[in-house]
Amino acid sequence: MIWRAHMVTTAEQVARAVLQNSPYARCFACLATQVGVSEKDARDAAQVLIVRQDFGISRRVCYTCTRVDDVLIAAKSA
Ligand SMILES: [Zn+2]
Repeated sequence: MIWRAHMVTTAEQVARAVLQNSPYARCFACLATQVGVSEKDARDAAQVLIVRQDFGISRRVCYTCTRVDDVLIAAKSA
C-alpha cells in the first residue's frame, strides 16, 4: 500500500496520539492541539474510537494543562 498523508484519518491520528501519550492522558483541548485539529474534530474522532471499543473516556488530570477533564484513553488501560 502506498502511504499517503490524506489517508490518515483524524481518528487514526487521535488514536496514535493517545497511545503515544500513554500512560499519561491529555484533555480534548490539549489532544486536539497535539494532533493539529479543532477540539470538536478531536471529540468527533473520539466517538469513532469509542464505538470501535478501542478507547474509552475517563476523568483524569490532563498532564499538559493539569485540568481535571474527560480524557480519551486506550481501552486496555481503562
Ligand atoms: Zn489539557
